[in-house]
Amino acid sequence: MKELPLLLECDVLVVGGGPAGAVAGVAAARYGARTVILERHGFLGGNLTAGGIDTSYGLYSVGEHPVKTIGGLPDEVFDRLRAMQACYERPNTYGAGTGITFSIEHMKLVLEQMVLEAGARIVYHALVPDVYFEAGRLAGVILPTKQGLKRVAARFIVDTTGDADVVAYAGGAYYKPGEDGPIQPCTTVFFMANVDIARAQAFGKKAMWAEMEKAIASGKYNLPRVEGSFHATPYPGLIEANMTRIHGVDVTDILALSDAEVEGRRQVQEYARFLIECVPGFEKAYLVKTGPHIGTREGRRIIGDYVLNREDVIEGRRFPDAIAQCGQPIEDHSAGRETRWVYVKDYGFYDIPYRCLIPRGLDNVLAAGRCLSATHDAHASARSSATAMGMGQAAGLAAAMAVAVSKSSREVDIKELQQRLRAWGAPL
Ligand SMILES: Cc1cc2nc3c(=O)[nH]c(=O)nc-3n(C[C@H](O)[C@H](O)[C@H](O)COP(=O)(O)OP(=O)(O)OC[C@H]3O[C@@H](n4cnc5c(N)ncnc54)[C@H](O)[C@@H]3O)c2cc1C
Repeated sequence: MKELPLLLECDVLVVGGGPAGAVAGVAAARYGARTVILERHGFLGGNLTAGGIDTSYGLYSVGEHPVKTIGGLPDEVFDRLRAMQACYERPNTYGAGTGITFSIEHMKLVLEQMVLEAGARIVYHALVPDVYFEAGRLAGVILPTKQGLKRVAARFIVDTTGDADVVAYAGGAYYKPGEDGPIQPCTTVFFMANVDIARAQAFGKKAMWAEMEKAIASGKYNLPRVEGSFHATPYPGLIEANMTRIHGVDVTDILALSDAEVEGRRQVQEYARFLIECVPGFEKAYLVKTGPHIGTREGRRIIGDYVLNREDVIEGRRFPDAIAQCGQPIEDHSAGRETRWVYVKDYGFYDIPYRCLIPRGLDNVLAAGRCLSATHDAHASARSSATAMGMGQAAGLAAAMAVAVSKSSREVDIKELQQRLRAWGAPL
């Protein structure tokens, strides 16, 4: 690969600038590593910005006595949004717990500011299609650009692509989408303006679902899901709706992904028509936008030194190499028209071990976010965006610590990693 022109050289390369990757980049750069983030879109945030998913869950456990489960750099993200009056908290005892709903444009800005202030380099419009090795060791990635193919050299890579792209290209172990259970469906999230939100919310979710049933029975609407939801954004009259459902999509297959985008857009038209015609408060509303990328819940997941499983989640298991905590229920959308919820025992929380970030077969790569090492069910709990940020924070810091002492991912001093995470504010 030496023949390809070198675009950049760094200590820690973060591939994928979603919630996990953006925070990983901040963590690595704050520790002092020369850090580069490569992101396919022209902004950071992943599902939260490109997918239109404007609410973060996972900062708190669920139930009547919520405790803080994620903190540190993720708190800073939301503190900055609060200071800009660009988010609001939605307290909720059950469901997915308390969420923070934010302005998507401000989320792009805050993540970018934090990464740049930390001293990392962001490269946008950078979809990584492959990696390269030197002397048997993973040495960087290939990068197609308008000026031709380039390469980015790195001593350590953090894979936060959501789909474990780097791990797959580099020959690490992973579950293919659908290999160990159904694939969670994709959802095209959409925004509607000019909604009388007070009236629409007063109508209530259950009444809306009953209208959906009636609409389906009438034969006039083709609605594949009967229990979607909408919520107010920080902007007057603007709502975000999460209703569409496209089953069985392997998002790593470009043809399947393209078909899903088409089907998602078709469903958006149908749900928007349903809301305008059947739900009070939407009479004068109109569809304003969908995201540039369909919302993706599940793609490839790495097979790591430990695979988090359903019992670990439900029993609220603790691990000596914990790097993040999670109290989110198993939220599985793959069961037909409804959603399956299974809660952690006593509404507690479990630990995500560092070993869930280490892909088998590779020693200078960590994966974080929704491509962590977990079974289908455990993933359905650990995939929330604040939890992804918590994993990203640990992966970025661990990568920088490994590089600083020329060690592998498995030689990182776990106690020191945990102490540093606690010092940043992670509740471990
Ligand atoms: C419809 C839907 C609703 C959801 N609702 C919520 C919710 O309400 N609250 C919540 O907390 N979570 C929710 N989630 C889950 C949450 O959004 C994701 O699990 C979370 O975004 C995962 O973060 P991530 O950084 O791991 O991955 P992603 O957000 O997917 O980010 C991955 C990033 O990597 C980039 N990328 C991918 N491949 C490459 C490549 N090869 N080269 C370069 N860049 C690449 C992508 O462009 C993207 O920016 C929802 C998800 C969906 C789909």
